Amino acid sequence: MSDGNPVADCLFCRIVAKEIPAEVVRETDTTLAFRDIHPQAPTHVLVVPKAHYPNAAALAVGDPVQAAAVLAEAGEVAAQEKIAESGYRMIFNTGEGAGQTVFHAHVHVLGGKGSLHGAL
Ligand code: C5P
Repeated sequence: MSDGNPVADCLFCRIVAKEIPAEVVRETDTTLAFRDIHPQAPTHVLVVPKAHYPNAAALAVGDPVQAAAVLAEAGEVAAQEKIAESGYRMIFNTGEGAGQTVFHAHVHVLGGKGSLHGAL
């Protein structure tokens, strides 16, 4: 069971600690939002909790307040990036089989031309 403490070899813990650079678009006491280095849409931002949980479901169980903060920040990112009106997608890949590659909870915020109609 994760307790939210930083994990030494976790990429997003290291980005949160500013040990690895990222293009930060928003920051709060409990969350960090930065541009994905391999954007899959005109706007592609990741919002992560500063606390370490391996995925979004574990975050919701371990720290529901911080889980809500991540969702609220995704909305703020969409407004700041001017994709809120046209619509945007929030994606939580959960588990290797679903394509999760970084095991620190994060939501992909995707928007902009051509990005709104995925498989679901
Ligand atoms: O959901 P998933 O775990 O696949 O998402 C991880 C994301 O983190 C990828 O979209 C990848 O491009 C991004 N990434 C990043 N900066 C890094 C390493 C990975 O934005 N330094």
